[in-house]
Amino acid sequence: MGSTGNPHVALIAFPFGTHAAPLFSLTAALATAAPSATFSFINSGRSNASLARDISAVPSGANIRVYDISDGCPDGYVLPVHNPEEEVGLFLQAAAVNIREAMEKAVEGAGGRRISCIVSDAFIWFAGKMAEEMRVPWVPLWTGGPYSLATHMYTDFLRLKFGEQVTPSRLSEPLDCIPYMSALQVRELPEGIVFGNTDSVFARLVHSMAKELPHATTVALNTFHGLDPAVDADLDTKFKHTLSIGPLHLLTPQPPQPADSYGCVQWLDNHAPATVVYISFGTIMSLPPPEAAALAEGLEASGVPFIWSLKAAGQAYLPSGFLERTSGRGLVVPWVPQLKVLNHPAVGAFVTHCGWNSVMESVTGGVPMICRPFLGDQRLNAGVVSRVWKIGAGFEGGIVTTGAAEKALRLVLMEDGGKAMRERVGKLREMAIGATKPGESSTNNFQALVEVICGY
Ligand code: UDP
Repeated sequence: MGSTGNPHVALIAFPFGTHAAPLFSLTAALATAAPSATFSFINSGRSNASLARDISAVPSGANIRVYDISDGCPDGYVLPVHNPEEEVGLFLQAAAVNIREAMEKAVEGAGGRRISCIVSDAFIWFAGKMAEEMRVPWVPLWTGGPYSLATHMYTDFLRLKFGEQVTPSRLSEPLDCIPYMSALQVRELPEGIVFGNTDSVFARLVHSMAKELPHATTVALNTFHGLDPAVDADLDTKFKHTLSIGPLHLLTPQPPQPADSYGCVQWLDNHAPATVVYISFGTIMSLPPPEAAALAEGLEASGVPFIWSLKAAGQAYLPSGFLERTSGRGLVVPWVPQLKVLNHPAVGAFVTHCGWNSVMESVTGGVPMICRPFLGDQRLNAGVVSRVWKIGAGFEGGIVTTGAAEKALRLVLMEDGGKAMRERVGKLREMAIGATKPGESSTNNFQALVEVICGY
């Protein structure tokens, strides 16, 4: 338990993908809930720069201090091409030393107040070792979904069952060796468990994480009570203590959204309920060019109005004349205020890569999904969306073709199957909103988390 005087909490982010933002939102919520505690947020300078809007929304004089650490790239080093594996590897190599130094600075910055608790992204598993040495609690935040966390916890078991490299013919087998995963398939596991490079930086990272998490004081989860009861019950047996505090974007104060520079919301105001498809593949992934062209053709063929979050580089792959031909019923813009758009009644479907933040945001917007997952936990999330919660569908054949796009759009936006998905996701939406109301599960769990972290 943290010191009961004036706690000093170090929060350590994983500076890739959409990982640091939820941890910073949690920091802001904790800082409001525990005004006499100090919160030192430690993250790479580059990732902190991408959180500038969130950080600048913190009132001056607030009890949050932000510390930059190096991203591990030697001075003058330029990555040959965007290479996530190499970037993560370089960061991790230097991370332990850099984080320790930042914690020393944080103690100085807090007038010598020693660190009383470490909260970290669960990927920063070695924060558990640091906390143990410092004899303070460690509270990892798992920013993904409970199913993907469970697959990491079962890595050794799955390798015993399928081998480190499953034979291709077994990829379509159900994952019924974990009873609540029987609707999912081996191929939907994150790579690095029983296929792909099981010795990659990332595979080793999550494997180490799975070994360390059972020692954590409390594991905080971005999910909510009632969404996946069987998974939650199982995770409860793996960890000392878990607290579901999601959906985090409903529970924590959200920074001001970027201005709606492209007028998406106003554009949606002119559309009937549940008629528009919103398309985004998150902050890292983009559709391979032939699939982007096929999606554009499918949109044209279906006649469905759309908003597509697509950077200028991706727009170059659209079929010639597409933007002009669809200008009356489509918006293609480089950035969309996703939370607002998914909460707009006109949006009736979300074509998504199934990053966990997008999945949670779609659920709380009550919007069924059309899934095009790429890597990591995205395939598993897509399987859960389509076959466990039944609030979405995939593209036939797993990739976007013109025909598959047209079919999926029609199913979700125009057919009875889509109507049933909308009803089911509407129920989950109510459950999610309910969980974050005063006196309800996620709010109560957040209070319990404040107690674990701050000692009061
Ligand atoms: N996002 C957004 N506008 C866009 C594209 C993405 O606001 O045009 C946000 C989205 O709301 C979500 C995040 O970016 O919170 C993407 O997170 P996710 O976990 O889905 O995917 P990742 O970027 O980590 O692959």
